[in-house]
Amino acid sequence: MIDALPPEGVPAEQVLGELRALRGADRPTHGGRLFAYVYDPAVPGLDELAGSAYAISAAVNGLDPTAFPSLLAMENALVAAAARLLGGGPGSAAPAAVGSVTGGGTESLILAVQAARNARPEVTAPRLVAPVTAHAAFAKAAHLLGVGLDLVPVSPKTLRPAAADIGAAIGPDTVLVACSAPSYAHGVVDPVTEIAALAAAAGTRCHVDACFGGWTLPYLRRLGADLPPFDFAVPGVTSISVDLHKYAYAPKGVSVLLHRDPALRRPQYFAYADWPGYPLVNPVLSSTRSGGPIAAAVATLRHLGDAGYLALAARTREAVAGLAAAVTAVDGLRLLAEPETTVVCLASDDPDLDLFVLADELTARGWHTQPQMAYAELPASIHLTVTAAVAPRVAEFGPDLAAAARAARALGPVRLPAELLAVAAGLTPAALTPELVAGLAAGLGLAASDGPAGGSDSAGGSAGAGPLPDRLATVNTLLNAVPPELRAALLTEFLSLLQRPSYH
Ligand SMILES: *Cc1c(COP(=O)(O)O)cnc(C)c1O
Repeated sequence: MIDALPPEGVPAEQVLGELRALRGADRPTHGGRLFAYVYDPAVPGLDELAGSAYAISAAVNGLDPTAFPSLLAMENALVAAAARLLGGGPGSAAPAAVGSVTGGGTESLILAVQAARNARPEVTAPRLVAPVTAHAAFAKAAHLLGVGLDLVPVSPKTLRPAAADIGAAIGPDTVLVACSAPSYAHGVVDPVTEIAALAAAAGTRCHVDACFGGWTLPYLRRLGADLPPFDFAVPGVTSISVDLHKYAYAPKGVSVLLHRDPALRRPQYFAYADWPGYPLVNPVLSSTRSGGPIAAAVATLRHLGDAGYLALAARTREAVAGLAAAVTAVDGLRLLAEPETTVVCLASDDPDLDLFVLADELTARGWHTQPQMAYAELPASIHLTVTAAVAPRVAEFGPDLAAAARAARALGPVRLPAELLAVAAGLTPAALTPELVAGLAAGLGLAASDGPAGGSDSAGGSAGAGPLPDRLATVNTLLNAVPPELRAALLTEFLSLLQRPSYH
C-alpha cells in the first residue's frame, strides 16, 4: 500500500522506484502481446520524446488560451491535421471544418451529443439514433444529457445496421444520428454514406465516431484497403471524432472532435459571466486542462509524420492478416467479422471450445486479449486490437493460439455450479447489496474487500498482485449468463468494493 501523504517527504529517487515497482503488476504496455487498452507503434525513442514534450507543457492551463498561446497554437495544429486527414480543410468538401481538442473519445462523443441537443432547443424530448454496435460512450452521453437512445440492430453476418432500419428509427425528435468508422467491438465500418443521407434528409445531424480508427483508415485506404467513404467527403456528415491516444499513438488524454463548420460547433461551447469571478468560456467539458497530453500529441505527430503513419499502418495491416490467418487455421475458431481494419474478432463454432477458457489459456501463454459477451444474436467473441507493435509477434501467435485451443478443448467448457446459477437467476439489479456482491466476488476468487473494518484480506485464490485471479473463465461465464442490466450492476458493485481508500 502507498502512503500518499507521509509525515515527512520521501526522496525523489525513492518515489520513482516505488512507482516503477507498482507498474510491475500491470499488463505489459509494450511488446505486442496486449490486444486492448494500449496502442503501441514500437518506435524507438517515441516514449521518451512524448514524455519530454509532456513535461514541457504539463503546467500550462488550457483554461485560458490568451494566457497560454502555446496551447492555442498546438490545439489549432492538431485540429488542422485531423481535419485534413478526415476530408476537411482547404480545397476539400469541408473547407470550413473546425474542432476542439478533448481529453478522450468519451468526452468527444458527449460534446457531439450536447452540441446536437443544444442546437435544437425546441425539441423537448431529444433522441439519439445509433446502431447497437456504437460505442457505449454514446449511452453514457445520452444518460448524462437527458437524451433518449434509439438503438438499431445489426446484421449478425455483416455486423452493420441496415440503412433502412436507421431511417425508420429517425423521428421528429431525433437530434443526432451516430455511426462508427469503424466500430470498436468488431472493427467494421458502418454504411456512412447511406446513414448520413438519411440524417440530412430528415434535417438532423450525423456524427461519425472514428475515435478508434480515424487515424488509421485513411492510411489503410492509401495502402489499397477497400473501405467505404466515412469522412467529410460524405455529404450529411456533420461531425467526426478521432482519438489521438489510439492510432495516432499519442499518450493518453487526447482526442479531437471535428465539426463541418463553426456554426455547428457553436452550441458545444459553454460561456458564463454571471458571477463575481472571471468570465468563463469552455469549449470542452473540463475547464482547467493540462497542456501535457496536447504537447505530447503534437510531438508524436510531428516526429512520426505522414510517412511514419503510412508505414505503421502497413505493418499493422500485415499483422492483422497474419493474426486472421492464425485464427482460421484453428479448427473450431472463426472470424466473427471480416478483418477489414485493425481489429481481429474471433468466435467459436465448437461447443467444446469455450472462448472464455481459450482467453485464459492465451493469458497463460502471455497474450492478453479482450473477451466480449454474447449480445442479442451475436455470440461471445474475443477482441484483438492490433497495433504496429504486434507485427514482430505474429509468427509466435499462431502456434500459441493452436496450443491454447487444444488446452481449452481438453479442459472443456465452464460449467457454472448449480448454486451459483440459482443465485444469479434470482438476482435483479435492485436486489444487489454490497454484501451479496462481496460474497459472490470472494466465491469467484476476486479480491474485493469491503473496506478495512469488515474486509477479509484473503484474495481468495488470487495469485497475482492485482484484484483478479489468473483465470477468469468462470467470472466471464457468469457475466455472460446474466442480462446486460444485471451484468452492469454487478460490475458497478464490484468496482465500488475495489475503490476504497487505503488508510494507513
Ligand atoms: C475508445 C472509443 C471510444 C471512447 O474513447 P475513450 O478515449 O476511451 O473515452 C469511443 N468510440 C470508439 C469507437 C472507441 O474505440
